[in-house]
Amino acid sequence: MTYDTFVMVDWSGGNDRGPAPTKDAVWACVAGQNPIYFRNRQLVEDWLIDLFTTELAAKRSVFAGFDFPFGYPAGFAKSVTGSADPFALWTWFANHITDTPKTNNRFDIAGDLNALSDGIGPFWANGLSRDIPNLPRKGRDRSSSPFPERRQVEASAKGSFTCWQMAGAGAVGSQVMMGLPVLHRLRAKFANDLRVWPFEDTSAAITIAEIWPTQFAGPAPDGMIKDAHQVQATAAYLASLPPTDFANLMNVDAPEEGWIFGVPQSKPPALRNDCFAMPQGAYWTPVAEALAHLQENLSPVTGQKEIKITRAAGRILAADVTAKRDHPPTPNSAVDGYAFAGPVDQGVHAVPLVDGRAAAGAPYAAPVPNGHAIRILTGAAMPRGTDTVVLQEDVTVDGTKILFHGPLKSGANARKAGEDMTTGQVILTSRRTLTAADLGTMAAAGIGHVTVRRKLRVGVLSTGDELAQAGHTARIDQIYDANRPMLCAVARQWGHKVIDLGCGPDNRDRLRAILTDAAKKCDVILTSGGASAGDEDHMSALLQDTGSLALWRVAMKPGRPLALGVWDGVPVFGLPGNPVAAMVCALVFAHPALSVLAGGDWSDPIGYPMPAAFSKTKKAGRREYMRARIEDGQVVAFGSEGSGRVSGLSWAGGLVELGDDAQSINHGDLVRYIPYESFGL
Ligand code: AMP
Ligand code: MG
Repeated sequence: MTYDTFVMVDWSGGNDRGPAPTKDAVWACVAGQNPIYFRNRQLVEDWLIDLFTTELAAKRSVFAGFDFPFGYPAGFAKSVTGSADPFALWTWFANHITDTPKTNNRFDIAGDLNALSDGIGPFWANGLSRDIPNLPRKGRDRSSSPFPERRQVEASAKGSFTCWQMAGAGAVGSQVMMGLPVLHRLRAKFANDLRVWPFEDTSAAITIAEIWPTQFAGPAPDGMIKDAHQVQATAAYLASLPPTDFANLMNVDAPEEGWIFGVPQSKPPALRNDCFAMPQGAYWTPVAEALAHLQENLSPVTGQKEIKITRAAGRILAADVTAKRDHPPTPNSAVDGYAFAGPVDQGVHAVPLVDGRAAAGAPYAAPVPNGHAIRILTGAAMPRGTDTVVLQEDVTVDGTKILFHGPLKSGANARKAGEDMTTGQVILTSRRTLTAADLGTMAAAGIGHVTVRRKLRVGVLSTGDELAQAGHTARIDQIYDANRPMLCAVARQWGHKVIDLGCGPDNRDRLRAILTDAAKKCDVILTSGGASAGDEDHMSALLQDTGSLALWRVAMKPGRPLALGVWDGVPVFGLPGNPVAAMVCALVFAHPALSVLAGGDWSDPIGYPMPAAFSKTKKAGRREYMRARIEDGQVVAFGSEGSGRVSGLSWAGGLVELGDDAQSINHGDLVRYIPYESFGL
């Protein structure tokens, strides 16, 4: 049993519809009963209060669905109320909307809200004959909309209308505005017993949620009003859902815009428990093989959201981006000079000037007659009748005409429309991490919003009874936890959201509780310490218990075994405790792996062949990473290879990678130097 009572309401944003049941009024239905007609909102509000009161008294739980959005597209709540909290917007509407059966102020409020933005928008459509300041009658007459046109959920709800459209058949703009004040009052009246999905936890007796009746109800039987049929069919359908299906539909993350109950959220599937499984044995896995395994078995675990491009630097694209307009949109001048119809031959030309000029943002509207020229400035649209520009430095101006030397090819010094980008062209591809230049490219192509991955939430945990916290006093038998500040900063520099999980003791039960709690709020967990197979290696023991442990014996120095596993669906990277090994393993394995989990590209670090300022012999069979830096065009290696010496990581500017084969490196031989930057730092 999910809820005892299901009630669905099909809302209306209009005025009183009279006594006889009609469409476009409010219809409500309790599952298993007949639909009820309400001629206006005031009546249904009273009816809902009675229903909720009766059900609460009878200790029955209620799921109430309403067919209008509970939130607006991202950014709107904040721009109106200063807070992204959707309830702040509910309160705002409750304070500003006046509503009686015969009249209300919704169109004026839409105009007032439009007046808050720079141009005219985002609201449009006026159902009244009188004009409303700032409320255009047509969507295309809007001059600006700083917000997305649709909420995220509406991308998956084909045929739904936007919150911005205030009038017209099927428009929901008025319904939201006239609905939220009612929900605000219900929420206040039943403060202890009513919760709003998906904004709040829904453990109270009454849950209210947004529904979209078209989703579940088939066509209405002959002679039945569509709205009446839809509330009845939706109530019956939701009441019949098994608890596990219902729980799946409840599991949605949409804290600002809200969501339509029943529309699946496109969260990627969790990783498989065996994603780290590798053939075990006495064999040491080469680094390349370990990396190939990660590349093949990991996939994105983050959801998506639409954000303004101005906030998108460093974010990962969740979809290809296509140009919305040509760049440049029209042919325009590349220089300051004079425009005319080209080409012109060799020799001196005297060309009469037309009156006026063309400047960037101030085009010359009339055509330029053949044989004439016009003053033009850089960036100005080429006036009709011109296609060529002569540089002002090459011209003598003589009263009403210009003199210059040919030849000039036609099109000289002019930029063609779309020469940079054309409408519909894919300009940036999915999985790319957006750069500052990308923001410029997208803005130029007419793009205001992009769909990006939600940030990967990376938990960082240190383990070990010997660890003391930076800045605190430490006993002589303690050492300071160096890994956590380091790994937190690394994950943050990679663009992820870091969740500091603190420091856990060498105690299996405590660590188990920490991991279980962490798995609820992290997408991936990085731990350090306790990853080998010794008595105090609790991290590998715990992952072993889940059946998902893969203890990777990678043929690499530095590095002890890596303990990889999946805890409650969340991948865990058990890094070695030694700070140098922890860092090198993080750079080599966690960097590309986390990039893929975050929805980005797999990245192999870029290395540079540089002459060695050291000599060294190494055996075959494992890859070695040495702390190194560039001095005078040569690679200098850190004095000690001891993997406890964290200061060497600071001294270095990157790592030298020595391949798996045996090598003897002499002074001046080329070695592969990988600067920290190549590892995303
Ligand atoms: P373990 O992998 O737990 O056996 O640790 C290997 C070595 O790394 C030991 O010397 C630990 O004391 C040291 N170690 C473990 N965790 C940290 C840490 N967070 N910061 C500094 N050293 C650590
Ligand atoms: Mg330890």
